[in-house]
Amino acid sequence: MRMDKAFMERDREIFLGSVEEPMVAFSHMRALTLLQLQHTISDCTRCLRLTTYRQAIACEKVKRFRDWEYWGRPVPGFGDAQARLFVIGLAPAAHGGNRTGRVFTGDRSGDWLYEALHVFGFANQPTSIHREDGLRLNDCYVAAAVRCAPPANKPTKEEFNACRPFLQEELRLLRRVTVIVALGRIAFDEYLRTSQAMGGHVPSPRPKFSHGAAYALPWGITVLGSYHPSQQNTFTGTLTRPMFHEIFNKARKLVDQS
Ligand code: SF4
Repeated sequence: MRMDKAFMERDREIFLGSVEEPMVAFSHMRALTLLQLQHTISDCTRCLRLTTYRQAIACEKVKRFRDWEYWGRPVPGFGDAQARLFVIGLAPAAHGGNRTGRVFTGDRSGDWLYEALHVFGFANQPTSIHREDGLRLNDCYVAAAVRCAPPANKPTKEEFNACRPFLQEELRLLRRVTVIVALGRIAFDEYLRTSQAMGGHVPSPRPKFSHGAAYALPWGITVLGSYHPSQQNTFTGTLTRPMFHEIFNKARKLVDQS
């Protein structure tokens, strides 16, 4: 994709919030640091349905985790504030992130994700078990489009809308990001929607999700689509380990070139 350099620079400026955005729908919420944003996210109760659900799950628990004190709150992003790679998922799992308090932690999807991040040098260890397990991400940040565990893993449109300012703030604060890995079509579309809300000019025809598809966007970021490492995909062979590794191999090369 050929782009006018001045246009691209202006788009990135708009995207990072250093010039006035044409769309300021979420300008009421501005965090100064990622840490501050993580605290704000953890305290959010904006969506009644999701707040009720995640708290109920945290009280009821499941038998295998009955000794755990569940997090039961929105799950903030996690990783390196200087990241060039940003991985975006859908939402925390009821007994994964909602239990441990760290995104993609304590479930099979997380096992796949952090193993792949470790193989390609973005994580210091291949597992993510709980918040004090010593995991450190290097040059990588991980978050979900919706921060509360939803019933049946299906947030509503209104819940996506309500949670979008958090992703927007992360994108503004993570100023070095050049590569996005979107886990699943919903995360892919949500990234584009969020970028558009920040003033990014999404190309026409609109980038379409497929596994392995990469699009260089006018604001200097490449978005890379991957099937979500959900059990539904990994158990059925829709997503295999080599397919998933290839995504992060590509992400590593793109990050190194940036
Ligand atoms: S989904 Fe997002 S906006 Fe809704 S309560 Fe959770 S953190 Fe708040």
